[in-house]
Amino acid sequence: MVTKLQRIETFMTNPSGTLEPQTLSDIRSAPGDPLMRIRGARVHNLKNVDIDLRRDQLIVLTGVSGSGKSSLAFDTIYAEGQRQYIESLSTYARQFLDQLPRPDCDHIDGLEPTLCIDQKSGASNPRSTVATVTEVYDYLRLLMARVGAPHCYHCGAAILQQTSEQILASLMNLAEETRLIVLAPMVRGRKGAHEDVFQEIRKAGLVRARVDGTMYDIESLPKLSPRKNHTIEAVVDRLVVREGIESRLGESIKTALKLSDGLLIAFFELPDADDWDERLLSSRYACPQCDISYEELEPRTFSFNSPYGACPDCDGLGRLEAYDSDLLIPDWTQPAEVAAMLPWKGTSAAVRKRIRGTLEPLVLDGGGQWDQPLDQLSAKGRSTLTTTIVELLNVEWEKKLTEARREQLTNWIGAVECSTCGGSRLRREALSVTLADRHIGQIVAMPATEATVFFAALQAECDQSLQDDSAYDVESEATADASVVRERAPRRVKVGGKLSPSQREIARPILVEINKRLRFLDQVGVGYLTLGRSADTLSGGELQRVRLATSIGSGLVGVCYILDEPSIGLHQRDNDRLIVALRDLQRQGNTVLVVEHDESMMRAADWLIDMGPGAGHRGGEILFAGEPSSITAIAEEQAEASDDDSDLPSRSVTADYLSGRRSIPVPESRRKADKNQMLTLAGANTHNLQNVTARFPLGCLIGVAGVSGSGKSSIVNDTLYPALARTLGLQSPKPGPFESLTGAEGIDKLIRIDQAPIGRTPRSCPATYTGALDLIRKVFAETRDAKQRGFAANRFSFNAKPGRCDQCMGQGQEKIEMNFLADLYVRCSVCGGKRFNRQTLAVRFKGASIADVLEMTIDDAAEFFKNFVKIDRILESMRSVGLGYLRLGQPSTTLSGGEAQRIKLATELARQETGNTLYLLDEPTTGLHFDDVRRLIDVLQSLVEKGNTVIVIEHNLDVIKCCDWIVEMGPEGGAGGGRLLAEGTPEKVVAGPQTPTSGYLQELLDAAVS
Ligand SMILES: [Zn+2]
Ligand SMILES: [Zn+2]
Ligand SMILES: [Zn+2]
Repeated sequence: MVTKLQRIETFMTNPSGTLEPQTLSDIRSAPGDPLMRIRGARVHNLKNVDIDLRRDQLIVLTGVSGSGKSSLAFDTIYAEGQRQYIESLSTYARQFLDQLPRPDCDHIDGLEPTLCIDQKSGASNPRSTVATVTEVYDYLRLLMARVGAPHCYHCGAAILQQTSEQILASLMNLAEETRLIVLAPMVRGRKGAHEDVFQEIRKAGLVRARVDGTMYDIESLPKLSPRKNHTIEAVVDRLVVREGIESRLGESIKTALKLSDGLLIAFFELPDADDWDERLLSSRYACPQCDISYEELEPRTFSFNSPYGACPDCDGLGRLEAYDSDLLIPDWTQPAEVAAMLPWKGTSAAVRKRIRGTLEPLVLDGGGQWDQPLDQLSAKGRSTLTTTIVELLNVEWEKKLTEARREQLTNWIGAVECSTCGGSRLRREALSVTLADRHIGQIVAMPATEATVFFAALQAECDQSLQDDSAYDVESEATADASVVRERAPRRVKVGGKLSPSQREIARPILVEINKRLRFLDQVGVGYLTLGRSADTLSGGELQRVRLATSIGSGLVGVCYILDEPSIGLHQRDNDRLIVALRDLQRQGNTVLVVEHDESMMRAADWLIDMGPGAGHRGGEILFAGEPSSITAIAEEQAEASDDDSDLPSRSVTADYLSGRRSIPVPESRRKADKNQMLTLAGANTHNLQNVTARFPLGCLIGVAGVSGSGKSSIVNDTLYPALARTLGLQSPKPGPFESLTGAEGIDKLIRIDQAPIGRTPRSCPATYTGALDLIRKVFAETRDAKQRGFAANRFSFNAKPGRCDQCMGQGQEKIEMNFLADLYVRCSVCGGKRFNRQTLAVRFKGASIADVLEMTIDDAAEFFKNFVKIDRILESMRSVGLGYLRLGQPSTTLSGGEAQRIKLATELARQETGNTLYLLDEPTTGLHFDDVRRLIDVLQSLVEKGNTVIVIEHNLDVIKCCDWIVEMGPEGGAGGGRLLAEGTPEKVVAGPQTPTSGYLQELLDAAVS
């Protein structure tokens, strides 16, 4: 039984995990009241917010970045829901409650249990897969254990286990009047004269035996050569199948099974043919051919997180730390003497001579020459060569090595697929069990869309049998039950996908659960993911959508789901499907609260809440709450109020954009692509790319579009970037396979601006990353206070000893280990979170201490430091990418991926640029509201104006419509994608053949014209 304590533990460590419905009902209050009432919310910048949320609605919470959306949704509503949940549990759990921060709020009534589907948590566990996150794997394990057909991993024969009653039933299924002989196999291909065996047969009162395939009377047996292999079977009974023989046959079966330790051969006459056939039957769970015993199938047999199921070599991870042949021989077009000897570069001549002595014969054997390119080798030659190199390195590793050499060796070690389990993570016993001819590894290797078809077909088969049991004939019973093996028949025994009626009965409810969960993966736009895909390789958006699908599939009712920008990473087409999915979740009887910037999501909501008007302390108010259709009325009212002075910014940016009063303009003219200034990547085959050739005109703003999984990232991040980096002599991982890259000579510098955190600890913050803090420290060192005390700039660093708080080492918070709960961070008791010691804080510039400055938003700091040119340039570039609301000292651990990316972009902007730089950005609009998107586009355009090239992977159509050049990948995700659908100006893409993007783009371009 799961204790309540364990439940909290799961809940605390995995807050977005699924709760059990019965525990949810405990904490529902006021069932008659349809409203959740929030009064006096003051978390972060919220200004005493009062808001009512109607249960069972789809609610979109929007507003400019930093306006307080997250403070309301996550830090108030979700935090309180979590607190109330724990309060409903045992007193033991409640003793930890004091440590859970109570949101600063007067009261919240009628709150439903809250579940948060965010983009962050749970992604780092390599033991989670799409199948485990969706719980499909739990049901699949059960299904495989109950109705899977086990086979011998050695010979492939079906593993049969039948009671003597089942054997009797299957033999009684033979046609009437069939002649049948029951044999007990005593010796199976073993050397010896076997006198003792014959003695045993006699003692059992039997009078016949089949020796090496021939029937003999027990008294006239041939003399057996003791040096040859022999097979001896005792004849237990001879009879004719007809009614009334059951009890006699039953006795004979028992005798045979007893004599031969669980085995029996049924030797019988074929109907309408002058021939006999035989079947080997077993009452043990073992391979009748190889005599290998198997464990009874259980769900844990298929768990890679259990020692009963996990591959013993990789411990169920599917990957191993091992020498990576791609790293050992990165370039097969080089001559063998260079390429194959790479791992011994820099070793002594004697060593190299010895190694060559081993490798050269292999190269010659494989069809190559020592001084010729390695790619002349046959496939077998290549694999022999790499295995040998790995062996040599393994031997070397065991010896005494210098530290330098050891380090060099580790350079070639990477995470490679486990060869024992082929990456499937499971033991061979588990992989020998099939369902509809596929083992579990093959089943989870299917993309979700394909798996949906596979399981739906199985379910249809099960449902079919409900209506028509006679469809299941006796012939298939024999094979489907896996009850019969034909000895001497071909090794591969066909055990079809057909399930017996009783198996269908067992499988049906399990399949219902699997299908329920799978169906929604496609709907939320991640149908291209394989079920076995590791969760730690998913993007935040993909993981969030997998969780969303799980929530819809789990069928919980009465929950308030809170989602953070689920549209991130989605093409407009998939976004439309996502809205339908959220609608499904709501219709099941849940409240769905979505924090979102996407226009179509806003328009689809039952209730729209707009926060603002600005960021930080300029925000924190509810500007609008109502049906989306009525928000435009606000814009009109405001337009009237401000009379003809329509230049005045209105309070609600959202209203402005939704009403069309403001919009992101399509550029008047586009930059012309110069044929002679093209970066051309040809013949790319990375991941799902299908020999793609794409062109990127230099000096242009280039948008790479396409549905999720279509290959945008494969071409830009996994091929173009590393290929270009290597051309420019930069350290970079190996690019995916491609033929050629031309036009790179027009680029001096390559900068990728990704969404990785700017730092891993709370010590890094916008001020440190951008270098603003170094400049600000100098300002403080120049004050009279500082000079009198003799404080240099270094004193104002929270990372250096003299100035920082000793208690928390300048972190402002202290970590408290919580045993079974997640670690908790609490404000430092000495400095109160200010990070500095008292003496340092005594120094003031314009009345503010260094800690006060770090507390300022970038907007405020820009005002504060406006006379300092260098500081101002950094802060202004941060504001230009819409980050004015961030605090200078905000710990990097609290920044979203989109914010981290824009901080990096701002840092690049603040630099003096030379031009000829290629910038690569992946979805920079993440987390941006309309007006911020407009500003971001301006920033990107200004980078291009300076003579640079910008390539953005983007779904936001406002960005795409502003690009000079578009590269569209598609048409679908995964195997259905990987092709270049269109390239050229937006106008050209729209005019060309229809693509998933062209229709949406057309609408925007048309709107701009009218
Ligand atoms: Zn076998
Ligand atoms: Zn393995
Ligand atoms: Zn402190």
